[in-house]
Amino acid sequence: MSVSLGLPRVRGAGPGPSGAPAGTGLMDRHGRRATDLRLSVIDKCNLRCTYCMPATGLPWLPAAQLMSPAEITRIVDVGVSRLGVTELRLTGGEPLVRADLEQIIAGVRSTHPGLPISLTTNGIGLTPRADGLAAAGLDRINVSLDSLDADTFRALARRDRLTEVLAGAEAAAAAGLVPVKINAVLMRGVNDHEAPELLGWALERGFALRFIEQMPLDADHGWTRAEMVTAAEIRHRLTTRFRLTPHPGARDGAPAQLWEVRPAGGGDVLGTVGIIASVTEPFCGECKRTRITAEGRIRSCLFSHEETDLLGLLRTGATDAELAERWRAGMWGKPAAHGMERPGLDSEAYIQPERSMSAIGG
Ligand code: SAM
Ligand code: SF4
Repeated sequence: MSVSLGLPRVRGAGPGPSGAPAGTGLMDRHGRRATDLRLSVIDKCNLRCTYCMPATGLPWLPAAQLMSPAEITRIVDVGVSRLGVTELRLTGGEPLVRADLEQIIAGVRSTHPGLPISLTTNGIGLTPRADGLAAAGLDRINVSLDSLDADTFRALARRDRLTEVLAGAEAAAAAGLVPVKINAVLMRGVNDHEAPELLGWALERGFALRFIEQMPLDADHGWTRAEMVTAAEIRHRLTTRFRLTPHPGARDGAPAQLWEVRPAGGGDVLGTVGIIASVTEPFCGECKRTRITAEGRIRSCLFSHEETDLLGLLRTGATDAELAERWRAGMWGKPAAHGMERPGLDSEAYIQPERSMSAIGG
C-alpha cells in the first residue's frame, strides 16, 4: 500500500538564495544540470488510463490558475535565456484539451526560433490540428498508445477512442511532426502480450516506439512492484519476433535506453525501440529534467514531495532575474534518486508523491 501525504509542500515566500553557485544554470547539489524542460499546460484529460487517473477523474484546476500563453512564453524565455534550458516538451493532462495550444506554441516559437519544441499527447483530436500545430512551430510529437486492440484500449483508457488515436499518429506524421514517437505502458495480463505486435506496427510506419515501465504515480495507488512489467520482461517478450542489440549511440541523459531491432532470425536493422526503465534500471544520476506543473510550480523530480511556486511570483510583478533565482532555488534541492530501485524497498515502504502523473505532467 502506498501512502499519500495529501498535498505537496509548496515553497514560495520571496525569491530567496538558491544555494547554487552563481551563473551555473539549473544546477543541483549533486552536480547535475537541468536543460530539458517538461511543462504541463493543463491537468485535465479526456481519457482515464488506469495507471494514471481514477475512473471519476480528478478535481481540475480552475482556468484562472492555469498559466496563460503569455505567462508560458515568459517562463520558457527565462528558462532558455537565463538558465540554459535547451529543449521544451509540452505535456499534461492532455495538452490538446487546451483550445489555445497553437497560441502557446506560437508564442514560445516567436521568442526562440531555434528551440526544439515537442508535445506528448494521447492523440484525441490530433487529426484536425496536426497541420496547425506544425505551422505554429511544433517540431515533434509523442503519441501515447498502449494497445492496437479496441477492447484492450477501452479497458486501459476507459474510453472507446482507439480509432482516433491511430488516425492522430498518422496525421502527425503527415504534418511533418517527425519522428513520431509512440509511448506504451504495459500492464500485466492486460496488454503485455501485445509488445511484439506494437513494435511491428510502429516499425512498419517508421514510428519510434518507447515502452515505459509503469511507475507508482497513479491516482488510485494501484501500483505494486510484483505486478509491474519490468524492462527485462519487455525485452524478453520482444524476442519472440525480434532480436535486440544495444544501440551504439551515446545515451546522453536520455530516459530511454535504445535498442537496434532485427528480425528474430537475423537480417537487416528494422529500426529501434526504446525502453524507459525508471523503476528497475533508473537513470537518476544522468537526469537533465526540470518540470513546471500546469499551475506554474517547479518540480525538480517526478517523485518530489516539494514544489516551488513560480507563477505566483510572476503574477506579483517579479523581474526575470527574480524568477530565474526562484527556479534555481527550486532545482538545487533535487533528490539524488527516487529510491524505488533500492533493494528491500518494496511498495509497502515506498512513499508515493502526493500528485498523480496527469497532475504533475508526465
Ligand atoms: N495525456 C498525454 C499522454 O497520455 O500522452 C500526456 C500526459 S501523460 C501523463 C504522459 C505520459 O505518461 C504518457 O505516455 C503516459 O502513458 C505516461 N504515464 C502516465 N501514468 C504513468 C505511470 N503511472 N507510469 C508510467 N507512465 C505513465
Ligand atoms: Fe490522460 Fe495521459 Fe493520464 Fe492517460 S496517461 S489519463 S491520456 S494524462
